[in-house]
Amino acid sequence: MIKAKNKLGLVFFPAFDWAISPTHPEREERLLYTQDQIFEEGIQDIEGIKFFNPIIADEKDIQRVHFCVPDVKSRVTQSHLISVGGAIKASQSVMEKKVDKSFALVRPPGHHAQRVVYGDRGFCIVNVEAAMLERIRKEYGPLKVAIVDTDCHHGDGTQDIYWNDKNTLFISFHQDGRTLYPGTGFIDEFGGPAAYGYNINIPLPPGTGEEGFIYVLENVVLPILDEYKPDIIINSAGQDNHYTDPITNMNFTAQGYAKLNDRLNPDIAVLEGGYSIEGALPYVNLGIILAMAGIDYSHVHEPDYDKDKLKQPKNITEYIKQVSEIVYNRWKTKDELRLKEFKGLDNVERNRQIYYDTDGILETQSQNFKICKKCSGLNTIKSSCDRGYRIFAITIPKDACSNCIDEGYNLFKNPNGSYTHIYLQDRVNDKYYAK
Ligand SMILES: [Zn+2]
Ligand SMILES: [Zn+2]
Ligand SMILES: [Zn+2]
Repeated sequence: MIKAKNKLGLVFFPAFDWAISPTHPEREERLLYTQDQIFEEGIQDIEGIKFFNPIIADEKDIQRVHFCVPDVKSRVTQSHLISVGGAIKASQSVMEKKVDKSFALVRPPGHHAQRVVYGDRGFCIVNVEAAMLERIRKEYGPLKVAIVDTDCHHGDGTQDIYWNDKNTLFISFHQDGRTLYPGTGFIDEFGGPAAYGYNINIPLPPGTGEEGFIYVLENVVLPILDEYKPDIIINSAGQDNHYTDPITNMNFTAQGYAKLNDRLNPDIAVLEGGYSIEGALPYVNLGIILAMAGIDYSHVHEPDYDKDKLKQPKNITEYIKQVSEIVYNRWKTKDELRLKEFKGLDNVERNRQIYYDTDGILETQSQNFKICKKCSGLNTIKSSCDRGYRIFAITIPKDACSNCIDEGYNLFKNPNGSYTHIYLQDRVNDKYYAK
């Protein structure tokens, strides 16, 4: 009998009653072939691999990270609560040392869900990793965490949620935003005033293959993680960099994803995108499971795998080296860059338009970060969308000083302007108010 070197927990939630539409890439069968492949390989008989059932997340888990407009019940389905609950269960099993690592194979995905939620963006409504992470911080105390997003799309939701939080380092590598949804994720998106340098994007050219991904991992991601020293590493494990994925343009492989997880060594992985339902997902997921469990994965290959066809062209290799150098240098000089960017300011404003491609909603948002000497500063969002909502949302951050706490409650009581909804997220006392 095979024995896992690392005890690995698996949580499966294929959400058989949730799909965007019957022919949409984000549909029920997404995990069916994976399930078959895993059982065919006999994963369930490996000593040290344990299956856990998801729990159901509650409203509170969503309100710690999102402002759902008008409220959680109107936006979030039972499937979303179980997807988040699956990830929570996976992380709890690690925190309670029932297993060494865990992998939540859940859907719907979440990394495009930003703080404000009017609807579905990039097939996401709830940010699964963020809701999971804030739940385990609530249960097990403060944690310094790195989230590494290996999905082919920029994890713009996770970036938005942790934009001003130094205790959550977000690293996303993805297909260059000039060539793929959501069109963001550039090198200069580097974090808010209290966390400048702790949001790292590595945009990669279409056609990037195994060589490029592993290069970025070894020359940017791992050195940064070595210096940051997180308590835990979460892999936002999207699999749409695969060469057969129908909605992206990369050349990554199951073997490459396995190697990446082997070297990244995440404590928790959560499935994100990946739309090559038959050709990629079963092999990529198998590779990741074996790698996380510390079992030989060298035999894991797609049936149509052809090494020569997937070889990365030289010009792409050169380009990736240059991007990697720029990103790593910015990380090394982030303190100087922060001074230059924010010197003399007492608040920073960020204005954006956000398009919800799945639901066809256009949001206009203005976000304000107060620069406070005593804490990471009060944060407010004014936002409206073409469905008639006009909201004001206040976040008191976890490390808020007493001034910022008072200011947050005062703004909630006496907001400037007229709004359809006003929200207050008090992360110090874990409270949420809406009116
Ligand atoms: Zn990514
Ligand atoms: Zn994706
Ligand atoms: Zn303060």
